[in-house]
Amino acid sequence: MERRGVGTRVPVLPVRDTVHFPGVIQTLLVGRDMSLRALQESLDQGRETLVLSQRDHTIDEPTARDLYRVGTLSEVLHVLPLPDGTMRVVLRGLARAKAMKLNFRSGHFSCTYSFLKEEQAEAEKMDALMRECVSTFQQASSLGMQAPPEVLDIVGTMQDAGELADTIAHHLPSLNTAARQELLEEADASVRLERLVHILVRELQVLELQTSLRSKVEEELGQTQREYYLREQMRAIQQELGGSEDVFSEEGEEYRGKIQAAGMPPETHEKAMQELRRLERAPSSSPEGMVIRNYLDWLVDLPWQTVSDDQVDIKKAAEILDRDHYGLENVKDRVLDFLAVRQLSKSLRGPILCFTGPPGVGKTSIGRSIAESLGRKFHRISLGGVRDEAEIRGHRRTYIGSMPGRLIQGIKQCGTKNPVFLLDEIDKMTTDMRGDPTSALLEALDPEQNVSFSDHYIEANFDLSSVMFIATANLLENIPPTLRDRMEVIHFPSYTEQEKVQIAQKYLVPKKLEEHGLKKSQLSIPKATIEMMVREYTREAGVRWLQREIATVCRKVARIIAEGKEEKVKVDRELAHKMLGKPRFRYGMKGKVDEVGAATGLVYSEYGGDIITIEANLSEPFGEQPEVRLTGSLGDVMKESALAAMTYVRANQNRINPERKFRYDLHIHVPEGAVPKDGPSAGVTMLTALVSAYTGKAVRRDFAMTGEVTLRGKVLPVGGIREKVLAAHRAGIKHVILPEENMRDLDELPEGPRSDLEFHPVKTAEDVLGLALR
Ligand code: ADP
Repeated sequence: MERRGVGTRVPVLPVRDTVHFPGVIQTLLVGRDMSLRALQESLDQGRETLVLSQRDHTIDEPTARDLYRVGTLSEVLHVLPLPDGTMRVVLRGLARAKAMKLNFRSGHFSCTYSFLKEEQAEAEKMDALMRECVSTFQQASSLGMQAPPEVLDIVGTMQDAGELADTIAHHLPSLNTAARQELLEEADASVRLERLVHILVRELQVLELQTSLRSKVEEELGQTQREYYLREQMRAIQQELGGSEDVFSEEGEEYRGKIQAAGMPPETHEKAMQELRRLERAPSSSPEGMVIRNYLDWLVDLPWQTVSDDQVDIKKAAEILDRDHYGLENVKDRVLDFLAVRQLSKSLRGPILCFTGPPGVGKTSIGRSIAESLGRKFHRISLGGVRDEAEIRGHRRTYIGSMPGRLIQGIKQCGTKNPVFLLDEIDKMTTDMRGDPTSALLEALDPEQNVSFSDHYIEANFDLSSVMFIATANLLENIPPTLRDRMEVIHFPSYTEQEKVQIAQKYLVPKKLEEHGLKKSQLSIPKATIEMMVREYTREAGVRWLQREIATVCRKVARIIAEGKEEKVKVDRELAHKMLGKPRFRYGMKGKVDEVGAATGLVYSEYGGDIITIEANLSEPFGEQPEVRLTGSLGDVMKESALAAMTYVRANQNRINPERKFRYDLHIHVPEGAVPKDGPSAGVTMLTALVSAYTGKAVRRDFAMTGEVTLRGKVLPVGGIREKVLAAHRAGIKHVILPEENMRDLDELPEGPRSDLEFHPVKTAEDVLGLALR
């Protein structure tokens, strides 16, 4: 290119926000009129232009005063007109030049110029400065200063100090226009290099500070965030490996959210996160993945923090108990006492309520009402037949399908951590080699320990201390003593026939009508029908069977009405018989005639009270020694009573029957052996039957008896008097023989049976025989 040289006028290209250095090829966007004209002029006149930077980049139409005087004489290498009328220009810096006679003509600046004289320092100093400059520049870019990679290489090979300084100055991102201009105006390359080293060293320090700040901040980034980054990376890797895995980390995200929301204690939370990480590493459809997923589902679903508002309002509780239950005054009273104490002490700690009594007498139902009156969820856990600790405490998480124990299951089902748990049939729990469920249950019930109840499956402690436990049992004696000690026992008595009828009329029938979608006007069951149902279709202390029979009647009536055969149905006895089928029971009814060798006893089992007939038969001895045979599924204790009775008779044979020596084989039989019978209370009845057989005197059939007999003929008190007397009353008995010490139990009796029956207290076997035998 022909240089027209110093003295000629060149067009001036004013630029903003940048300084163009010699030796640098730079692309600029040119849009202002004065610039476009200057450019045109330059293209017309040998492509030279003097690039001058503007002092203030905000000025659109600069005057001569707004332009620095030192700039770079440049060559226009290339122009590219852009559609919007601007131009892209590629310039190469040629040399520093000072503008002179700068003026504005023909719509653009132009000037004459002189070159700045480049000065050179001595070679070693230059060399040292160059090396220093290059190495700080490279260091800085290694710490994150932005510079094109090719420049990093080029600066290492540059020979000319001035050119090196200008190249680096051009590529230093942190320099502002003024600082660049200063560098441009410095003609001495060594001074420029020194300044650059200075700037670069500062830059380095700043960068180092930034780096250390960044790493500090990174350290402070919580575990979660770091995990987030790692997960993102993992997700990317998984996507690379085959897209489907990505669904899987979505699942992870979902779990992560649920775990955060579940409110677990910190250790459990950590455990859950650990499992989640395992899940994310496991292939999505592997068995291991299933096991972990199942486990996490359990963890996140448990109500770690959720409670229902506890409200103990004794008045309301009393209303609810009365609303749902007939009678049971004693029970309701005790329950309300219990709640009152809890209300005052503001805690449900302390003894656990234990409801004992035969099935169907309202234990569960009272438990449900308690929960309702406290505003808590209710859950029944049936313990009958539970013999394995794992049922209470869960199975270890080693195979697919293992589960937490029933307590934790119950908690999950309730969705609150303070439900009422009814531990049903706690007396039917057994212990065998598979571990002792009792001890697991003890831990759950113990206020000292149940804050951190450990389930094998959950592998984390769950706080059961706000659960209210109520246990139920049919027979108190069968509850393991360690458990019994912690309980406040409330006994539910059997119902009399009259009570059952009342319960049926007032509660069961309305309840079943509603359940079957029947209106009161559509079905009526008269009292006589209910009485018949009680007698002929049920044999129970409670009202379960009765309830079932009523449900059957409702079902049949619902069908009759639905089929449009009738609009309303009155179920008389005959219709009831038709609906319910053949009567199921001949109740233990009093025999019609007095008999020899058969006596009526009163028994009490978990099904309530009943009467039984005990038969005794004497026969000539078959072998050397008289034998005793007992039939009718008798328990051991009952057998012993039979032997004791026989020994007594032998010892007193002279008095009882002086005419016949007692030398017989004895056979005692208790018919209707379906209900297992045991206990010593049949002693008097066996004795009476035996003596009747021995003496030939008939036993009075309107008498029923209970009591234990000792070898020497003393009569000892027995249990279950209320139930036994109710059974006697039901069976049409008129006289009841009972141990004298049991007379005080008669206070518990309802009025009806008490006035209908005659009670005979006895102290000795002789008293019994004197009363019962004709
Ligand atoms: P348990 O738990 O003692 O075996 P439930 O509580 O299950 O007995 O009672 C069986 C049915 O009899 C329930 O539907 C219950 O509501 C009803 N029931 C029992 N006793 C009464 C009562 N005194 N008043 C009203 N309904 C009763």
